[in-house]
Amino acid sequence: MHDDHMHDDHGHDDHGHDDHGHDDHGRDDHKHGHEDDHEHGSHLSEMDLRVRALESILVEKGYVDPKALDLLIETYETKVGPHNGAKVVARAWSDAAYKGRLLRDATAAIAELGFMGRQGEHMVVVENTEEVHNLVVCTLCSCYPWSVLGLPPVWYKSAPYRSRAVMDPRGVLADFGVTLPAGKQIRVWDSTSEIRYLVLPERPASTEGWSEERLARLVTRDCMIGTGLASQPQEEPPREQTSQQVA
Ligand code: FE
Repeated sequence: MHDDHMHDDHGHDDHGHDDHGHDDHGRDDHKHGHEDDHEHGSHLSEMDLRVRALESILVEKGYVDPKALDLLIETYETKVGPHNGAKVVARAWSDAAYKGRLLRDATAAIAELGFMGRQGEHMVVVENTEEVHNLVVCTLCSCYPWSVLGLPPVWYKSAPYRSRAVMDPRGVLADFGVTLPAGKQIRVWDSTSEIRYLVLPERPASTEGWSEERLARLVTRDCMIGTGLASQPQEEPPREQTSQQVA
């Protein structure tokens, strides 16, 4: 069976930096050749230097409060992360009515659980089934549903992932240790500044009667991107680790 790439442009041209707030833009995305030739005599990368210079100017001119910046960074490092998405998935597994709302209007259904905000405004949830596996990529840069998954992993932003997810999704999945049945269709979804996708993984077998909290422990970040599957009950992590399930 052939792979069906649900891959279109989604208005990728207006991937404006203004709408993104990506701190990684320009590192490997919008690289301007002339900048790479400079010798800075410093171990800091071009992007680190730019970020520092920009931060200094903004702070000096009073446009931003360094404490606010620290808080913002801490929020995404500790409070906002895949544990949010895991709660959404566990709810959908447990509550058919919620799942229906999630598939119809993900932004609203996710907001019901209190998760909203930057990079989570236009969410679409795509459901894995026996027939279909969904995989999410941003081919142009690194659009990602921050409100439910936190900040994107480095590989998500890498050029090889961004190109191969479309050209060879099965190969990418193999790199992640995921082998799907040959007959299973793979759909690749290209995130944009307008639409952020979240994969609703298949609920593992033998989890009947589990609480949402316990189910959430089986939901990994990668299974919500589509580069992984939900953990099996025998792989359930110990309780202490779940609150640290950030990166
Ligand atoms: Fe992007």
